[in-house]
Amino acid sequence: MKSIPRYDEWKTTPPEQEPATYCDCCGCELYEGDYLYTIDGESLCEDCVNEEYRRTI
Ligand SMILES: [Zn+2]
Repeated sequence: MKSIPRYDEWKTTPPEQEPATYCDCCGCELYEGDYLYTIDGESLCEDCVNEEYRRTI
């Protein structure tokens, strides 16, 4: 069966989700359900927190 290009795409692609906020450090988009850390009044993503605050002991 021949498929029609792009015919189903608008139905199967989920709607664009608006970012809930942005990381103050790297500026990446953070969505609902993502981890967000507020440290010293800054909103930071998990990657930045791991880089800035996590230490190996
Ligand atoms: Zn970040």
